[in-house]
Amino acid sequence: MSRLSVVLPAYNEELMIVKACRTLKKLLDQERIPYELVLVDDGSTDETWNQIEEISMQDPNVTGVHFSRNFGKEAAIVAGLAQAGGDAVAVMDCDLQHPPEKLIEMFRLWEQGYEVIEGVKTSRGKENMLHRKSAGFFYRIMSRTTGFDMQNASDFKLLDRKAVQSVLSMPERSMFFRATSSWVGYRSTSVFFEVKEREAGESKWSTRALISYAFRNIVAFTTLPLQFVTAGAVGCFICSLILLVYSLVRYFTGHAVEGYTTLLIVLLFIGSAVMMSLGIIGYYIARIYEEVKRRPRYIVSKIIHGGEKD
Ligand code: UDP
Ligand code: MG
Repeated sequence: MSRLSVVLPAYNEELMIVKACRTLKKLLDQERIPYELVLVDDGSTDETWNQIEEISMQDPNVTGVHFSRNFGKEAAIVAGLAQAGGDAVAVMDCDLQHPPEKLIEMFRLWEQGYEVIEGVKTSRGKENMLHRKSAGFFYRIMSRTTGFDMQNASDFKLLDRKAVQSVLSMPERSMFFRATSSWVGYRSTSVFFEVKEREAGESKWSTRALISYAFRNIVAFTTLPLQFVTAGAVGCFICSLILLVYSLVRYFTGHAVEGYTTLLIVLLFIGSAVMMSLGIIGYYIARIYEEVKRRPRYIVSKIIHGGEKD
């Protein structure tokens, strides 16, 4: 019978991880689905790893992976996918904000032959207006440029082994799992779910972290901002031609353009446009630099597999 691996990235989740495991085990036993849980501790500073260690030493169906420090959720997902041995592999948050019942629905769809099953949010849970609006804007850009509908996308997904292999074969350091899993293609469908409220612990995302996450992923997935730079340059060039003709006409008709204010404005405008463009290009160069360094995406310090320490 086919086995399901469930990857759970965890960062400072001492209040939730045990409960999440218990809930999932109970549910999967009930449904008679053979399973494996892969708990990836993303360098937590609380009791999370000790708890994972305890669970995975007792239960051979639980694998624990411990990072040497915090590498971020995307890295934890990749490590989980690499460790998972199931025929189908699901990824979900370990704070139970992704409803476990939906996991069963996803697994049944996989049994029917779907290879990528995406969890799509019907509501974004409790969030302030600014977050909601900027998330909407970010996903519009991503959808437009990637060609995949990313509105309300989440990291709650179930992938067939083939799709997992394809995701793992992608060499880039900065992975954006939400988009990458669509990018690989395959026969896919969506499952809709409502984001539950977090029962305990707190969200790891500050506004600053979210902004930097958005920028990084736009740069990782599209070159659209560079096209803006070019479009801006063309715009400036056209304006300067118009201004040139205007000044020449004024000059030859006997009134030179009195220009201090105009000059200052044009100068400042061009100056800031150039600096902004350099900033965007610099950001891409920084990402290229990070990719060419070829550092590992994460460093594993311990693995507990089949009830034994590797
Ligand atoms: N997470 C992680 N590494 C991080 C931040 C978060 O592995 O650096 C995990 C976290 O433990 C949780 C999931 O990613 O399982 C989602 O995080 P969170 O609940 O903070 O995000 P939100 O639900 O608020 O978007
Ligand atoms: Mg959460």
